[in-house]
Amino acid sequence: ATPTALMVGTGRGAQLGILIKGPEVLESTRRVDTVVLDKTGTVTTGRMQLLDVFTAPSTDEGELLRLAGALEHASEHPIAQAIAAGAVERSETGVPPAEGWGRAGSLPVPENFENIAGLGVQGVVDGHAVLVGREKLLKEWVIELPRDLAEAKAAAEAEGRTAVAVAWDGEARGVLTVADAIKDTSAQAVAELRALGLKPVLLTGDNQLVAESVARSVGIDEVIAEVLPEDKVEVVKRLQDEGRTVAMVGDGVNDAAALATADLGLAMGTGTDAAIEAGDLTLVRGDLRVAADAIRLSRRTLATIK
Ligand code: ADP
Ligand code: MG
Repeated sequence: ATPTALMVGTGRGAQLGILIKGPEVLESTRRVDTVVLDKTGTVTTGRMQLLDVFTAPSTDEGELLRLAGALEHASEHPIAQAIAAGAVERSETGVPPAEGWGRAGSLPVPENFENIAGLGVQGVVDGHAVLVGREKLLKEWVIELPRDLAEAKAAAEAEGRTAVAVAWDGEARGVLTVADAIKDTSAQAVAELRALGLKPVLLTGDNQLVAESVARSVGIDEVIAEVLPEDKVEVVKRLQDEGRTVAMVGDGVNDAAALATADLGLAMGTGTDAAIEAGDLTLVRGDLRVAADAIRLSRRTLATIK
C-alpha cells in the first residue's frame, strides 16, 4: 500500500467521524472476519434506570434503597449511577423515607468503599457492612439469596433486565433491577457488519440471559457472557487461537486490554479515555454503524492501492 493512498483513507475517515491512530491501521481491517462487541455502552446506551425493588420479608424498602444507593453513589459504574439516582428519586417521591434519610436526597457517605471490578461494590454505610452486586459477590461471603428473591431475580433476567443483589451484615436483603436501552442504531450496525462478511459476537460481564436478550434484539447469535473484566482479553486471544482475525469494539476501562490485543481495536468516542487510548481507531460519535463504515473505507482504500 502506498502511504499517500492510506493518508487519503485517513482523511476520509475523519469526515465519517472516525479518528485513525495511524495510516497503517487500515491495513489490519482487511483480514478481519469476527467483530466482538461489548454490550454496555457499546450496543446499549449504558444509561441505565432503576426499575424493580424486591425486598426480603424483614427488610424495609426505604432502608434497602438508602444503603444500596449510598454505596453505589461512590461508584462510577452505569449500574451504580442508576441505583444511586433511583434511590434519591424514590426517596423524594412516593416511597416513604426510612429513618435516617436526613434531608431529601442526601445519602450517607460510605466508609471503606471498595469496587470489585465485574462483581460489584462493598463498604460500610451507617455501621452496616453492605454488598451490592452479582450473586457471585454474595457467594464469596457465603451469603445465599432466599428463594423468593432468587425467583424474582430470575424472572427479571428472563425479561432482559440486569438484577443485582443487596446484602448487609451477612444477610441478603433485596434485589434491584436496572435496564439499559439498546441504541436504535445497533441492529442496523450489526446487519451492516454481517453484510461485510463479519461474524458478530456479543461480549459482556453481564448475566447470560440479559446478554442473550440484547443479542436477540440486535441480531447477534454468538454470546459470551459473565466474563470478568480481566478475562475479556482472554476471550479475544482464544478467538485468535481459533484462527479468527478479530476486531473488538468497546467503551469501558474493562475493555482496554481486549481492544489493545484485538487485531483491530475500535473505541467508542463516548467511552472512557482508557478505551480510546487502547484502540486503533475511535468512533467519534459512539455510533456503531460507523464501525462498518471504517471497515468499508479501509477495504476501499486498499482496493484502490492494488
Ligand atoms: P459489561 O461487560 O457489560 O460492560 P461489567 O464488566 O462492568 O459489564 O459488569 C459486569 C456485572 O458486574 C454487571 O452486569 C453487574 O451485575 C456487576 N457489577 C459491576 N459493577 C457493579 C456495581 N457497581 N453495582 C452493581 N453491580 C455491579
Ligand atoms: Mg462497556
